[in-house]
Amino acid sequence: MVRAEKARSDNNDEIPVARRVNAPIRVKAGLPTLLIILSIGLVGFITTFVFVKRSLDTRSLEVRQYLRTNPSSDGRLIGHFPYKEASPKDLETIRPGIQVNSETAKYLRRMIRAAASDGVYLALLSGYRSHDLQKEIFFEVKSERNQTATERAKVSAPPGYSEHSTGYAIDLGDVGRPETHFEVDFETTWAFRWLKKNAAKYHFVLSFPKGNAQGVSYEPWHWRFEGSAEALREFEESRKFSESKK
Ligand SMILES: [Zn+2]
Repeated sequence: MVRAEKARSDNNDEIPVARRVNAPIRVKAGLPTLLIILSIGLVGFITTFVFVKRSLDTRSLEVRQYLRTNPSSDGRLIGHFPYKEASPKDLETIRPGIQVNSETAKYLRRMIRAAASDGVYLALLSGYRSHDLQKEIFFEVKSERNQTATERAKVSAPPGYSEHSTGYAIDLGDVGRPETHFEVDFETTWAFRWLKKNAAKYHFVLSFPKGNAQGVSYEPWHWRFEGSAEALREFEESRKFSESKK
């Protein structure tokens, strides 16, 4: 009996050897599992990182959700129409840091010269804005004022919905009255009076006049160029919309 047990025990002694022989195979079998665990860990880490990063940006989260879910049936977003980004080849630098569409630049130069010859000095405050820059303006700057998306959209277009991204829109001021820059008070300047009378000759129109159909705040400083077929096409939706509301 004792011998029999010894024999079994001797047989059992072979098992560790067998395990040792099988050991590398076991490690091989575990490798995919290890990779899967590592992958899950990595995906988890990335997901957490992205989530935390997004959560930190809570200031604009509510606005982003609003924008995703609320485009009007006519394609507008809180009053603004969607606009493509101008192609860099169609843009021209007209002042340091200010680009506009090349055709627009031609007429803008003529208009600025004509105004100057009447003793009115137009300041060019803004021209083309990329979607990224518009995003910054809309979400970063305005959110500091703690405005809702709707409030914000009255004074600044949501990214992808600004006329400035086309290269055809410009913001003008009066060189002699910088305190009226981007203010409704700009309408009291000689520059604005001159523009109201003469801008149409150079194919510039006021995009957001008082009580405009789109519901955007009155912006006496914001003009758009409609002096080429491309520009006309770009603003056709907006023009048709305003005319339909008259
Ligand atoms: Zn503008």
